[in-house]
Amino acid sequence: MTTVVTDTPKFPCVSCHTDCCKEYTIFVNAHDVYRLSTGLNLKPESFLELIGAKDYSLGIKVEEGLVDLALKQINGACEFLEETDEIYRCTVNDFKPGVCKSYPFEMKNGNLSQMSDIMCPTDWDLTGFKEMMIPHLKKDESEWMFYDQLVKEWNLKHKGKKPLSEFLKFMLTKVKLSNEVQ
Ligand code: SF4
Ligand code: SF4
Repeated sequence: MTTVVTDTPKFPCVSCHTDCCKEYTIFVNAHDVYRLSTGLNLKPESFLELIGAKDYSLGIKVEEGLVDLALKQINGACEFLEETDEIYRCTVNDFKPGVCKSYPFEMKNGNLSQMSDIMCPTDWDLTGFKEMMIPHLKKDESEWMFYDQLVKEWNLKHKGKKPLSEFLKFMLTKVKLSNEVQ
C-alpha cells in the first residue's frame, strides 16, 4: 500500500481525489437519514435512492420492492461531493453518514484497524485516530442494529403493502423518539 505524502499528514483526504466518494455506493441507516434530513432541512426523498436489497432478510419491504437506502449519485460520485479546481470536498461534513466517517477504519478483535483490500491509498496512523474512531465505530454499529430491528418490525407489520414514503415517516419517528429518551 502506498503512503500519500501531504502537507497535512494527519488528514491525507485533503490531497486525495476522494475515490471513496466516487466508487462506493453509500448505504445509509435511520440515524444517517435523520441527521441529513434535519441538519440540511431536506426531505429524505430528495437525497435518497433505492437499491435492490442485497440481503433478502434485511431489505425494506415496500410497494416499490425489496430495497435498501443509499445516497444518490450525480456524475458518478456522491451527490454531496463538490469539486473546485480538482480539490474535492464533502459538503455535508457535519451530517455525513456513519459509513463515511468510519472509512477506512474498522474494529478487529477489539482493536482499531485499517480495512484491507480497499481503494484508500493511505497507510493511516492508527494511534492518532483511536480516541475519535473507536467511540464512533461502536456508535455506528449500534445505529445499524437499531436500523435492522426497525426494518424487521416494519416488514412484519406491513408485508410490503405500504409505500416507501410511509416507511420513511415511520423510520424518522423512531429515531426522534429514541433521541428523546437518551
Ligand atoms: S479515506 Fe482514503 S480514499 Fe477516501 S478521501 Fe481519504 S485518503 Fe482518499
Ligand atoms: S457524504 Fe460526503 S464523505 Fe460521504 S460519500 Fe458523500 S461526499 Fe463523500
